Amino acid sequence: MPVSASVTKTVRAVCPHDCPDTCSMVVTVRDGVAIDVRGADQPFTRGFLCQKVSRYLERVYHPERLAWPMKRVGPKGNGEFTRISWDEAVETIARRFQEIAHSADGPQAILPYSYAGTMGQLQGSSLDRRFFHRLGATLLDRTICATAGAAGCDVTLGTRAALDPETVVRSRYIINWGSNTSVTNTHLWALMHQARKHGAKIISIDPYKCRTAARSDWWLPIRPGTDAALALGLMHVLWRDELHDQDYLDRYCLGGDLLRQRALDEYPPERVASITGIAAEDIGRLAREYATAMTERGGPAFIRLNYGLQRHGGGGMAVRTICCLPAVIGAWRHPGGGALLSTSALYGFSGNPVLTRPDLIPPGTRTLNMVQLAEALNGELAPPPVRALYVYNANPAAVCPDQSRVLKGLLREDLFTVVHEQFPTDTVRYADIVLPATTQLEHLDIHGSYGHLYVQVNSPAIAPLGEAKSNNDVFRLLARRMRFEPELFEIRDEELAAAALKPWAPPRRYPAADVFEGITLERLLEEGPLRLNLPEDYAPFAQGGFGTPSGKCELYSPALAARGLDPLPTYTPPHEDPQTRPDLAARFPLQMVSPPHPSFLNSTFVNVKSLREQAGEPTVEIHPDDAALRGIRSGQWVSVSNDRGTFRAKALVGETVKKGVVVTQGIWWNVYTPDHVNCNTTTSSRLTDLGGGATFFDNLVEVTVAE
Ligand code: SF4
Repeated sequence: MPVSASVTKTVRAVCPHDCPDTCSMVVTVRDGVAIDVRGADQPFTRGFLCQKVSRYLERVYHPERLAWPMKRVGPKGNGEFTRISWDEAVETIARRFQEIAHSADGPQAILPYSYAGTMGQLQGSSLDRRFFHRLGATLLDRTICATAGAAGCDVTLGTRAALDPETVVRSRYIINWGSNTSVTNTHLWALMHQARKHGAKIISIDPYKCRTAARSDWWLPIRPGTDAALALGLMHVLWRDELHDQDYLDRYCLGGDLLRQRALDEYPPERVASITGIAAEDIGRLAREYATAMTERGGPAFIRLNYGLQRHGGGGMAVRTICCLPAVIGAWRHPGGGALLSTSALYGFSGNPVLTRPDLIPPGTRTLNMVQLAEALNGELAPPPVRALYVYNANPAAVCPDQSRVLKGLLREDLFTVVHEQFPTDTVRYADIVLPATTQLEHLDIHGSYGHLYVQVNSPAIAPLGEAKSNNDVFRLLARRMRFEPELFEIRDEELAAAALKPWAPPRRYPAADVFEGITLERLLEEGPLRLNLPEDYAPFAQGGFGTPSGKCELYSPALAARGLDPLPTYTPPHEDPQTRPDLAARFPLQMVSPPHPSFLNSTFVNVKSLREQAGEPTVEIHPDDAALRGIRSGQWVSVSNDRGTFRAKALVGETVKKGVVVTQGIWWNVYTPDHVNCNTTTSSRLTDLGGGATFFDNLVEVTVAE
């Protein structure tokens, strides 16, 4: 019998994970099996992947991949399931949704729950939204990561703080502010390193001596949640010492004089030092070096803002305040100058209604904030109660704050929970129906980025494993069973991708209407990643042109004034701060922050054995003085607790954290922790000042030797 020749091909792919780099990948497939995943050429990601995704095949072919639909057979939360057909799964879900929709509670008793399990536009935010909009389900405010910072930028700049990240090679003074760039934005770090070779100085402002801080020229350990005070202290020095750019302020900013007065009157370096824990001399030196980057070092100053610093009560205002700094010194004038939070708003995807069809939302539909899942599931919000939860692209049992109460809600016998997942995550344990999901290698998607300016297509490299289906395929099945209009759902992913790339006129200035000009699905499939239609050395605010109502950088915000909020940048202390909550700090004196572990990406990758083994065990880093006070030695198991909960971790004693601060890296799956609870058992569901964001890093705890 003739032996057929083996067939090998390569397929263009894109990393789908919640990371600004959005790497280009190439997958080698032999006889239908993916045998290699590596970085592909692209000007920003330049052919290399991080250590997590270079092991992607361990994830795709993981022995615990969910292979078929299942229904619960044991008690809720026990994770006992039996196999069922797709027909039965779809029939069960549709019947329950219809029952609820036709009950007195109505369709708003159904809550979709998703976030950034994939960043793809098709599998992350297209037919899912259409389906739940058409159903009339409660809307989900997807706030768990970025909305506080986005709101802070929006009121100040009229868009996110954005510039072309590739221009950082021109910067000569680089501040990573709350950003572990070398780990969480590794391709930008490579460019920063290039700038450093040409004389750039790299600064890290961070409560934690993360890898980036350790590799920087200067680490300023700041007290968590006090970033706005530091920015205002810097402004004090800039104006006091006449280091500001009066011409830029006059031409392109609103309220410069008012902000100047506030900074000079209220934020002298000595006061700021007592708030931030950074010495007054260091505040003065930082301000002077920042303002003179152009004249002294020959290139502009660049601030890489990241999301950690907005995870506290005053997070929105903190980002707003930092975004004012480049305006005060005129750094926005130059390519490589300014501040970068996210490039996502530069894409025409943001807010484009063509995929999600917001016109289908019934008038008056309520919105629930995803940070408050505990409140939603425990009947603490206005009726109707949440009677059905459909989870996809998310793992709330591990990731949501106030975990004990989230788990209590998920245990409700009367809650019908569907989880569409790749693996048996912590959330899957609480499901009534489990649906197997495809990975990025098994479906089509189209990607923007929040860390560069390229559009990319991910082509399916292999057939779905087992009976796995993509999000869009599941919503097509459900829509068919519920007899929703075929014209809304009987549309192929290729057609959706092509539609998403059509230029459209957004209601505001950003994104520019023609960013996709000349970019088509055919070209992306043929040529690979294509840069948005924006100029080289893009410096969006070089000559003003802000997206605010005034067209200026709104140092004074009429919009905030109209809402009864402080119209000027100000320092808002964290909800839980020893300086403003001495009562709470008497019992829980340590400020805990919980950044992602370098081996994980939020809760993704924790089940990949090689990465989990590299991570070891949950740890908590504590300053030697705080450890000595509590009789804690490195390597000892300790309990970290507050009124919300307790988790165990191994103590690492060292000067990687400021006195009074502890750091635990996340986000471990509960199932892999000693007591089956992770750090989110202590975090709070309170919201930020702007944007309704999460306050994970606003968390007072006590650490004791574990019994
Ligand atoms: S997680 Fe980030 S750095 Fe790693 S491959 Fe994906 S996009 Fe690239």
